[in-house]
Amino acid sequence: MENKKELRGWLDNFGLNHPLVIAGPCSAETEAQVLKIAHQLKESDATVLRAGIWKPRTRPGNFEGVGALGLKWLQKAKQETGMLTTTEVANANHVDLALKHDVDILWIGARTTVSPFIVQDIADALKGTDKIVLIKNPVNPDLALWLGAVERFHTADVKNLGVIHRGFSTYEKTRYRNNPEWQIAVDLQNRFPDLPLILDPSHIAGRRDIIFDLCQTALDLNYDGMMVETHYDPDNAWSDAAQQITPETLIQITKDLKIKKETAEGADYNNKLNTLRTQIDVVDHQLIDMMGKRMKVADEIGALKKTKNVAVLQTKRWNEILGKMILQGEEKNLSEEFILRVFKAIHQESINHQEKVING
Ligand code: PEP
Ligand code: MN
Repeated sequence: MENKKELRGWLDNFGLNHPLVIAGPCSAETEAQVLKIAHQLKESDATVLRAGIWKPRTRPGNFEGVGALGLKWLQKAKQETGMLTTTEVANANHVDLALKHDVDILWIGARTTVSPFIVQDIADALKGTDKIVLIKNPVNPDLALWLGAVERFHTADVKNLGVIHRGFSTYEKTRYRNNPEWQIAVDLQNRFPDLPLILDPSHIAGRRDIIFDLCQTALDLNYDGMMVETHYDPDNAWSDAAQQITPETLIQITKDLKIKKETAEGADYNNKLNTLRTQIDVVDHQLIDMMGKRMKVADEIGALKKTKNVAVLQTKRWNEILGKMILQGEEKNLSEEFILRVFKAIHQESINHQEKVING
């Protein structure tokens, strides 16, 4: 991964690389663990060490972080390696402790961003700070809520702001722990082109094997960096074991990532084209996903019809669907002819699915 020339926002004021690589364990576990990982990361592109000190857990009874004690370990890691440090703060007391221990970058977790009261308390506690503050997307796919949090910090005169895209939770299990919904981050980037945008592939993936692909997509979409959970013994990590990678894997990943050069001739055109093409790929992926879902429902309908010996083709229902889709298509500037062609094809596939279920 070579450095990109153009720097966004505060990245160059702090002498940080582009793309910025933040790495470290999900949670600080012991002093020895934090120091060992920090020293291993010195060989990588990571310039900022992350570690959760206070861990928001979905259910009680899991490891909830070592607490303020861990801040001393981060301080020591910084002295020994020269890396900057970052941790999550979830209330004004955390802010106070983190600032006292010289943490360089504070991040706001996804479960905090959803709560305007808490965000406001933290913003007040950080009023006028020169520290970098990174705001993770809220757990629910709501761009306004994410922007609202950014606005609260901006209004509190926090100048060095950035955002972290960590994906959105869904009830339905997908290949991701948190659905990326790339479009939301792309929309945010279009509205605030100077706000550094960082990917957290670890919490999107929930597993190790797709971290590289997620990082590559982010770079293709002009992200400014990544925050990757890293542990020397991922399987035995005290939290988020399945998604952590070793420092060696991180080194390999950043070596293999391709980042776009902005200096070559015609690069501007090519970069823009690439970014747009990646957006198209993301949407196409979603289309396939949605069509797969639709056919699954069709299978269920087929099974139901089989129990009552009902015909597959229900013309009245089909005409209703078409009418609705044509109207909705109009709102999105899609021609009637296009909607007819697409939905006829979808309908045919649905019929094929149902027939297979009914007739085997
Ligand atoms: C984390 O970074 O370890 C974390 C708890 O993240 P999130 O707020 O994205 O769930
Ligand atoms: Mn984690």
